[in-house]
Amino acid sequence: METILVLTHADESGSALSKASLEAVTAGKELAARLSAPLIIGIVAADSAPLANSLASTGARLLAVSGEAFAQARYATDAAALEALCRTANATIVLVPGTSRFTRIAAGAAHRLGGFIDTHITALGGTETIEATRWFYRQRIEAVLSRDTRPWFLVLDAGTHAAFAGESSATQAEQIAVELPEIRTTVSGLRSPAQGAQTIRPDAKLLLVAGAGWTKKQPDGQIHAAEAGELILGFLHATGASLGSSKSLVDQGGEGEPVLPFLTHMNQIGQTGSTPRHAKGLSTCCHGEEPHVVGWRFIADRRAISLDPNCGWTRGKADVVYVADAFPVVAKLNALLESKKA
Ligand SMILES: Cc1cc2nc3c(=O)[nH]c(=O)nc-3n(C[C@H](O)[C@H](O)[C@H](O)COP(=O)(O)OP(=O)(O)OC[C@H]3O[C@@H](n4cnc5c(N)ncnc54)[C@H](O)[C@@H]3O)c2cc1C
Repeated sequence: METILVLTHADESGSALSKASLEAVTAGKELAARLSAPLIIGIVAADSAPLANSLASTGARLLAVSGEAFAQARYATDAAALEALCRTANATIVLVPGTSRFTRIAAGAAHRLGGFIDTHITALGGTETIEATRWFYRQRIEAVLSRDTRPWFLVLDAGTHAAFAGESSATQAEQIAVELPEIRTTVSGLRSPAQGAQTIRPDAKLLLVAGAGWTKKQPDGQIHAAEAGELILGFLHATGASLGSSKSLVDQGGEGEPVLPFLTHMNQIGQTGSTPRHAKGLSTCCHGEEPHVVGWRFIADRRAISLDPNCGWTRGKADVVYVADAFPVVAKLNALLESKKA
């Protein structure tokens, strides 16, 4: 019989579980119910008490590693915490939320336990055996994996499960002692981009993609990069959308061409970029070539605005294509959004 352990950690506030952790809890609950297997949840946090309370209604056995050493992400302490939780739980299946904090230590923890790890898991199926689904070759091929090796660590992609939300009630997690290794890394503080400068918003409902067309010569023979920047930022401000880019647009800076200063390679969507998950996507001034569109695999409703009626988007890649000049279209959209707000 399998024993399922879900690993979780606190979010930045320290008083709640991270969203990806809550998604892993949902995945663990579903899997445990399907396999009639025991469910254990492990918590890593400075203060695990409020986090344990929020998991009381899961009915799972709760284990916690607590203390100041676990307030911050740090390889040595986090890896020791996961190892201690896994050894105590003696689980055969370990579900790990795909956060930056746990992604970097999960393979190390699996190695210490003599287990096997698979990453970027998007779904868990099977009733007799466990079938884990993931995409390969930049989201072009979907595979279903099963393994005999135990413990089997499965790192779940964020956004693939609903976040667990249950009644909070007083409960106690079993505190697991961790022998701390020598700590060479001290966290002196956090630096984050100025308010409003962060354009990548994984939890946004909408993705706005900017293509190289924004900085190309327009019908008047001129480049309007500054105006393009204002329109794009105006749209982001009005909608709270996340900003993606084509590769061509973010590459332009290195080639001495006009750039949009708020875009970096972190915004790039596609084969050599990211594959975000949003309910809707609006592509602007982008040709919709395959290496870009492959990054749109998990965008449910896709729309594009392009001047080119023969662009890749029109060849079956978008649900709706507006063959139009994106400058006036986005200006009009922004005006409508602003008037709706007022
Ligand atoms: C190995 C490899 C990996 C790659 N990986 C990626 C990747 O991860 N992501 C990625 O994006 N690309 C990737 N590419 C590049 C990709 O093939 C395309 O070159 C790129 O996506 C094109 O970007 P674009 O559509 O923004 O620019 P362009 O091809 O220059 O298209 C600009 C479009 O804007 C339109 N336009 C211009 N002005 C306006 C206006 N006013 N209103 C409306 N439309 C307008 C034009 O009609 C044109 O269709 C990769 C290529 C290779 C070979």
